[in-house]
Amino acid sequence: MQEAWLQLRCPDCDKHWEATPTDLPSPETAFSCDECGGERPLSELMKTKRDLELLRSFGQ
Ligand SMILES: [Zn+2]
Repeated sequence: MQEAWLQLRCPDCDKHWEATPTDLPSPETAFSCDECGGERPLSELMKTKRDLELLRSFGQ
């Protein structure tokens, strides 16, 4: 399977990073930012709608 990279952004501290869908839990999972420790649903950290859709398409 082709590996897609998702763009993530923390709304609290503006940290940007990338991850593959296989590295990430489901979109509803609370996710802690490495930088500021802020906890948000993973879906809120997706930088664009496309990233969120990709994440959803991988999550079973
Ligand atoms: Zn943060």
